[in-house]
Amino acid sequence: MGYNRSTGTYDPVIPERWSGQMKDIKVKVLVVEDEESIRRFITLNLSAAGYLVGDTATGEEALVMLKTFVPKVVVLDLMLPGISGLEVCQKIRETMQETFVIMLTARGQDTDKILGLELGADDYMVKPFNPLELIARVKAVLRRGAGFRDPKEIFNCRDLCLNITASKFSKSNHEIELTPIEFALLRVFMENPGRTLKREEMLNTVWGDDYFGDTKTLDVHIRRLREKIEDNPSQPEYIKTVWGSGYRWQQES
Ligand code: CA
Repeated sequence: MGYNRSTGTYDPVIPERWSGQMKDIKVKVLVVEDEESIRRFITLNLSAAGYLVGDTATGEEALVMLKTFVPKVVVLDLMLPGISGLEVCQKIRETMQETFVIMLTARGQDTDKILGLELGADDYMVKPFNPLELIARVKAVLRRGAGFRDPKEIFNCRDLCLNITASKFSKSNHEIELTPIEFALLRVFMENPGRTLKREEMLNTVWGDDYFGDTKTLDVHIRRLREKIEDNPSQPEYIKTVWGSGYRWQQES
């Protein structure tokens, strides 16, 4: 799984939860980018990583390929001539709930809007980017998505309830909105009550094992998650800090 040091290639990423017979099926990725050199570069890297890659330079053709190629992940340039990446993304959100979108943007574009409800992309990358990081992001959305497609799963802990199937979280029966990363982190915690989770381990699980970020990113997300779930975030009752190591989920009060 992931980067193979002996061959220097990336193996296709099939989340372990998926059934055995799916392991030979390549995950389909559609690359929509009008700049030919960038499109080729991305396509080449994703193919080398083991994905089955389709590509197009236009939004018009992308809309057709969504139906004919049926990709699991779409790497989508925001600025396209004709039908824009924005319109393609909206179409995907309306009609293809199981397809993930990673938006390619230029520096300075409104990322809140890209990830927010207006556009609903699953992730974004600012050009220029490292192809290895794009592969890590593709892996990460697939990993998160695999969780959401599991059969009914509800985790309860004291007054907290995490509903995986419905992608909902509530505290004392009040629904609280979580970002996809907060949701994934909370799931990792609730699946592993009482266990010390190392920072690196959590980064690998939630972001993918070749994510380039550092553990500070994790700490920021944990702080935000605490603000949402803890009565007193400075005296956390659920997410305990294990000094010099990571975090531990406290199941019992
Ligand atoms: Ca463009």
